[in-house]
Amino acid sequence: MPLLDHLNPEQLAAVTLPNQHALILAGAGSGKTRVLTTRIAWLVQTGNASPAGILAVTFTNKAAREMLTRISAMLPINTRGMWVGTFHGLCNRMLRAHHRDAGLPQLFQILDSADQLSVVKRVLKSMNVDEEKFQPKQVQWFINGAKEEGKRAGDVEVYDDFSRRMVEIYAAYDEQCRREGLADFPELLLRCFELLSRNEVLRTHYQSRFRHILVDEFQDTNRLQYRWLKLLAGQGNVIFGVGDDDQSIYRFRGANVGNMADFEREFKVENLIRLEQNYRSHGNILDAANALISHNRRRLGKNLWTAAGEGEPVRVYEAQSDGYEARWIAEEVQSLVREGYARSDIAVLYRSNAQSRVLEHALFTAGIAYRVYGGLRFFERQEVKHALAYLRLLANPDDDSAFLRVVNFPTRGIGARSVEQVQDAARGAGGSLWAAASSLTGKAGTAVGAFVKLVAAMRENARGLPLPEVVDHVLHASGLLDHYKTEREGTDRIENLEELVNAATAFVRDELPTGAALAAVDQAEAAAAPAAPAEAPDPWLAAFLAHAALESGENQAGEGADAVQLMTAHSAKGLEFHIVFISGLEEGLFPHEQSVTEEDGLEEERRLMYVAVTRARTRLYLSFAQTRLLHGQTRYNVASRFLDEIPAAVLKWLTPRGGKLFGDAAAWQPAPAPLRLAAKAERSGPGALPFRIGQNVNHPKFGVGVIVSAEGSGADARVQINFGRQGMKWLQLEYAKLTPA
Ligand code: ATP
Ligand code: MG
Repeated sequence: MPLLDHLNPEQLAAVTLPNQHALILAGAGSGKTRVLTTRIAWLVQTGNASPAGILAVTFTNKAAREMLTRISAMLPINTRGMWVGTFHGLCNRMLRAHHRDAGLPQLFQILDSADQLSVVKRVLKSMNVDEEKFQPKQVQWFINGAKEEGKRAGDVEVYDDFSRRMVEIYAAYDEQCRREGLADFPELLLRCFELLSRNEVLRTHYQSRFRHILVDEFQDTNRLQYRWLKLLAGQGNVIFGVGDDDQSIYRFRGANVGNMADFEREFKVENLIRLEQNYRSHGNILDAANALISHNRRRLGKNLWTAAGEGEPVRVYEAQSDGYEARWIAEEVQSLVREGYARSDIAVLYRSNAQSRVLEHALFTAGIAYRVYGGLRFFERQEVKHALAYLRLLANPDDDSAFLRVVNFPTRGIGARSVEQVQDAARGAGGSLWAAASSLTGKAGTAVGAFVKLVAAMRENARGLPLPEVVDHVLHASGLLDHYKTEREGTDRIENLEELVNAATAFVRDELPTGAALAAVDQAEAAAAPAAPAEAPDPWLAAFLAHAALESGENQAGEGADAVQLMTAHSAKGLEFHIVFISGLEEGLFPHEQSVTEEDGLEEERRLMYVAVTRARTRLYLSFAQTRLLHGQTRYNVASRFLDEIPAAVLKWLTPRGGKLFGDAAAWQPAPAPLRLAAKAERSGPGALPFRIGQNVNHPKFGVGVIVSAEGSGADARVQINFGRQGMKWLQLEYAKLTPA
């Protein structure tokens, strides 16, 4: 079969396994995803499965789309009936089709993380909770953690006053979401899981449908996702899992590598296949990756080799500052493009989203087209969120978050007092803000009433229009366009708003059959399933809103355009590029400062670095900056320990530094830091010497530590010290009573 021509013997064995559970455990670039997609094509082509009998799940929307593209290239069939997507996307699909059974309004709105936080804040306020004691972020984290363990408020263990209150907040939050028809990300999964557990008819329907369940990136599934898979698999279905323990990078979101072992045990998996040949990277890059990951202790252990030859050395660059680093990257990109590389062959990776701004700026200034994937971007911009809020109100007037976001935006003379009155009335009546506002009279009633009328009119006028025209109408009728025309820097925002119309157009054209938001298509599914088919007020709008929430940023204009790819190391998982830059390789940044005091945390950072390194096919650049502006403050940096963990033989330094000084943290002295520190240090303790980054110091309470970074000057000078097991601390230099150790 031509389908199988380009597989090595182990891959071939995996692709053509009999219908039994299987686990493919293999390192980066060894063809796991290729095996998984080829198996899907093979199953269909051999008649072992119908397209509708396949459910394949992966980790990002980008990866899911890539998977569908690869399958379509191999199989001349319509992939529509196939369920290929992320866990969240697939659950969303199921919940839309069976929203009644799931206890959700059909047009339930998906809350992204920022929206969720604002709902949490509102709940805290309405309960008169002290936000110092119950910090909104912490509450959000608690709620999501509980949901990811499959627990509702009633299932969470209460052991003291604090946890009791937390559980009450959780319950109130869930109640608020129910009232408004909202679902946060973990809710999608939990709700879907509950639906399938409870509803035997539906469960049987899907179990008898999805004979083959294929899971990419198995190592990053969390407990609830695993249980969801188990539920769908039932007795007779076959799970085909592929994963790499060395690429598990979502522990902080509850990912559990142990799921692979559990799967092997609970499903009595007999087909365990390892792939060891890497087809992606040249030898030096692979050597760097292998050496790096060998510093982790907890590993299942794998050997990766390549037949590709050693290729080019890994290039290392040290910059004075983040700005210089970004400019150097932009220049290097320009010369690569002159050499003939496409911009889209080049990826710039970083640890934190906050790093992208400087990079974006440098690329933009140099006139290089780029795209930012994942994290914030298009759909998270303020003006876009405002527009989406109006659209959400059109879809579901009871959406209180949307109501609050735009009730007085653009300003229409509705003050905080009036809004509070509406909120009180809503609380009193146990209804939505919209319902309360509609029935309010008096002073607040007039301004608020006008808003209600405006939205109602928009809704009426939009009825029956194609989606892009609905969006366009809302932009005009809401007054958003006029508002931003009067703003000094409104041009950008207006362009973004106009881009939203383009996004809607592209969505209707391309996304509906593939992406995660499949409300409209799934009407057919709902009808086929035993559950009652849903009525459809405007499934396109609902699907588009779900898409906006799920994809935030992945669908900017110019997708497919020849642009440099910017993304965090997390979002690069599963992807590959000819040229990869990994920037910001500094202690405290990568590895991230929150991780370095804890062994598990550090190992996870190292896996993340391993993921980043193994994205590169032909050329890899590693760079770091002596100073960096982060969150509005200058930080002085030591080079990342990960640079030390890569054999010197595969590295080529582009800057003179890095010779013998490099890697010896104590000898490393960035220019500005010691001067400032020295001035202060004179007074900071008996026998004080000028301190410098990397120096070991003694603290009367915390013991021995290493200075990791410093900021501020004069009386404000602060140093960050890693006290090992005592943790990482910021101390005011003047009072810290530090002595050299
Ligand atoms: P990751 O762990 O990063 O997700 P992976 O194991 O899923 O990687 P793939 O993305 O499937 O690896 O494959 C890596 C690259 O190697 C791809 O470009 C793929 O097309 C290529 N490849 C895989 N197997 C072969 C093969 N037998 N012959 C030639 N190229 C191959
Ligand atoms: Mg893969």
